Amino acid sequence: MTDSGLQDVPAVRRPHVEPGKLFIGGQWCEANAKGRRDVVDPSTGKVVTTVAEADAADVDAAVTAGRGAAGPWARMSGRERARVLHRVADIVRRRADELVAVESLDVGKPVSLCRAVDVATTAEIYEYYSGLAQTIQGATRQIPIPSHAYTSREPLGVVGAITPFNFPLILSSAKIAPALAAGNAVVHKPAEDTPLSALLMAEILAEAGVPDGVLNVVTGGGAEAGEALLRHPGIDKIAFTGSTEIGRHAARTAGEALKPVTMELGGNAAQIVFEDADLDKAIGSVIKGFVFNTGQFCMGGPRLLVHRSLYDTVLEILAGAVAGVPVGDPFDPATVVGPMAAERHLAKVERYVALAREQGGRIVTGGKRLELDGGYYYRPTIIAGLDDGSRVVQEEIFGPVLTVQPFGTEDEAVELANGTPYGLAAGLQTTDLARAHRVAARLEAGIVWVNDWAMLDPAIPFGGVKQSGYGREYGPEALESYTKVKSVVIAL
Ligand code: NAD
Repeated sequence: MTDSGLQDVPAVRRPHVEPGKLFIGGQWCEANAKGRRDVVDPSTGKVVTTVAEADAADVDAAVTAGRGAAGPWARMSGRERARVLHRVADIVRRRADELVAVESLDVGKPVSLCRAVDVATTAEIYEYYSGLAQTIQGATRQIPIPSHAYTSREPLGVVGAITPFNFPLILSSAKIAPALAAGNAVVHKPAEDTPLSALLMAEILAEAGVPDGVLNVVTGGGAEAGEALLRHPGIDKIAFTGSTEIGRHAARTAGEALKPVTMELGGNAAQIVFEDADLDKAIGSVIKGFVFNTGQFCMGGPRLLVHRSLYDTVLEILAGAVAGVPVGDPFDPATVVGPMAAERHLAKVERYVALAREQGGRIVTGGKRLELDGGYYYRPTIIAGLDDGSRVVQEEIFGPVLTVQPFGTEDEAVELANGTPYGLAAGLQTTDLARAHRVAARLEAGIVWVNDWAMLDPAIPFGGVKQSGYGREYGPEALESYTKVKSVVIAL
């Protein structure tokens, strides 16, 4: 496939992107109703291209293509599927410049981080599941009935993958790679704000030899294309990543049809700095935890809890360090923080900072936009002095904003850390090994980091507890979630 309009993008320059099409059954096609949606460069606010706007008929065509392709793909051996997935990893690495350019343009990601994190991780995910595709196995069970009894793992059929705007490449690969490894077909609906890399990946998967119809990409809005995918009777599982609000709706809808789901939802993690922390390391980790991806990071750590004895010192060091973080054009290799991905996300951050001011919060640094080229820039912001019950502390802001609160005892730190409805990630800084284990065990989160932030790998499962969802991505856990167990008992 070479007609997505996304090829020939020069390395780390703002690319010219031709209008995108839907990818259904191995063909690039216009949407049924000829609908189109603008794609905006968040660093300028200007429309850079358009993509097709799928409706229910397009989703139906994609699911039909998936159903036709799923059987032959499932009947291939795991080793054959592994070869194809490994080629995807190789092509991602070979075409890294294009992927970096497109993803940075679409999301506003700094090119250097996009290459090192988003594109590198995408290749690693395909590589990892290429390995696991060869390990799918059942078990024999010895039972009192004279029989030969065994289990096997079978693919589910066609998976509906719905992804959010913030890590388009990684989050879609975290669904597509294990689903394909297990022998399923996929219909992917990327986020409406950031759909471009999904089209480039469709091209790459086709180039790697993924058969027509095994991956289908329908760009479009949540209310129409997303909803049609959720409700389609030909979909066997919904793999959803997004907000808790939409996730709740998606789980309810899929539950009505008794479809399995994975729900990767919102987060609002705490980073705890204990009095025995290595402060140099802790400061770096805290900053990474809230500015990475301009704070549009489900696993970010926007709530800093600092032991009272270090509170003033940490605030002072942070204020200086954060003010020096380079914010600007994502295509400048020196940039660390780019724009927010869309104007509505910037507006949300502004509303929360205004609320913090109303509630007596003290803006330690930032607290305003950065006016640059008409882009959606917001300065990394630290807010002190808010009560734990403040909405600014409790809710997911999803921008480069850190609230800071002091604590006295370990119990108090754990209580504050666990004191929101979310439970995706949590972290602590300590040099006391016993404390690291003790506190990690008490934190209500799907993943806990000690003495660094965002240590992620395709082999380490991630996912949430509480309002952050259920099910796990990454690791063998994700592969299993795209299979069903069959028991066979043969009388002897
Ligand atoms: P969102 O919930 O607004 O959208 C997510 C996806 O759902 C998009 O593709 C959207 O088009 C689709 N959608 C919207 N309405 C729909 C409907 N009625 N039916 C079906 N699909 C519909 O989320 P977002 O703003 O794109 O992303 C940010 C959110 O995602 C944050 O809450 C963040 O924490 C969360 N997130 C979670 C993880 C995780 O791994 N847990 C990872 C990244 C982002």
